[in-house]
Amino acid sequence: MHIDDAQICRQLAALGVELQSGVALSTLTSFGIGGTTDLLRIAKHESIPVVLDLLDQVKIPYKFLGGGSNLLVGDGELPWVVLQLAKPEPDVVLEGNLAHVDAAADLGRTVTFCAKHDLGGMEGLIGVPGTIGGALRMNAGAYGTQIGSYVTEVKVYRAAQRKIEILRDDQISFEYRHTSFAPDDMMLAVTLSLPSKPYKEILQGIRICNEKRRASQPMGQKSAGCIFKNPPGASAGRMIDELGLKGLSVGDARVSDRHANFFVNAGRASASDMLALIADVRARVEKAYGVKLENEVVVWSA
Ligand SMILES: Cc1cc2nc3c(=O)[nH]c(=O)nc-3n(C[C@H](O)[C@H](O)[C@H](O)COP(=O)(O)OP(=O)(O)OC[C@H]3O[C@@H](n4cnc5c(N)ncnc54)[C@H](O)[C@@H]3O)c2cc1C
Repeated sequence: MHIDDAQICRQLAALGVELQSGVALSTLTSFGIGGTTDLLRIAKHESIPVVLDLLDQVKIPYKFLGGGSNLLVGDGELPWVVLQLAKPEPDVVLEGNLAHVDAAADLGRTVTFCAKHDLGGMEGLIGVPGTIGGALRMNAGAYGTQIGSYVTEVKVYRAAQRKIEILRDDQISFEYRHTSFAPDDMMLAVTLSLPSKPYKEILQGIRICNEKRRASQPMGQKSAGCIFKNPPGASAGRMIDELGLKGLSVGDARVSDRHANFFVNAGRASASDMLALIADVRARVEKAYGVKLENEVVVWSA
């Protein structure tokens, strides 16, 4: 989708929005899959309501992109534009045990920055790619740690109310790869409360988690992490592995040989290849176990 209305383009520029035309989302997603559309990079949170009003005026739908590490984006010319927050400098400000973090901040860098200031707790999240905003959206977690446990408040743009609000932790529920945010809420910033810990101790925890990841996941291959959520009391990866589906492929979309819940783009996989592989694996698991696996990966159809 293209924004070609000259007046809208001028108004966006006046709001400090950087408009990039015809961006290939395959270059912005960890899967390396996705068609093209216009990208609007927003520098000031306060301009979001006005930007969305402008898009509404010309009936242009939009989606909100973080770091692109949990996304399967459709092929070809996409029927919506993409909004992304620009990263401010600094993106993390510490105040005692509190870390005030912009949603555009990189999750891993936030964990190490806080660690260097003797603030721990989030060691398990070290290898999770993407932004703080993306992690909040689905309550990213690993090795017994989830980001929601450290949240004290979140600054959110609530599209339904058309206003920016601060939500306290007791107004948000964080569950396994699920949160109570509305689908059109945009996370803008968060305050995390982190336990004090000596840097050396945090570093040790980080090393252990990195080793676990290296031992079990396809490093250096294009993926979006786990494709399916684990059903209650079971492991999606184990079920797929038990069915002997590692290596199963559709075109260049392939079930990883290392971790059966990671599907990889082993070359030039299209979104339709990956969707066909996901549907095939889901159907085989349902037939064998009577369990319908739910996507963890977010699909943006063309
Ligand atoms: C190699 C690899 C390993 C991974 N390991 C893990 C893991 O251990 N645990 C885990 O939980 N995940 C894991 N993931 C998945 C992914 O990294 C996380 O889900 C991450 O939190 C997604 O963040 P993102 O910024 O990349 O979001 P994106 O992929 O850009 O977006 C994902 C969803 O979040 C929404 N979103 C993004 N930013 C915002 C915002 N500011 N406000 C509102 N909505 C927003 C998008 O609209 C979209 O719906 C892994 C992925 C890879 C590639």
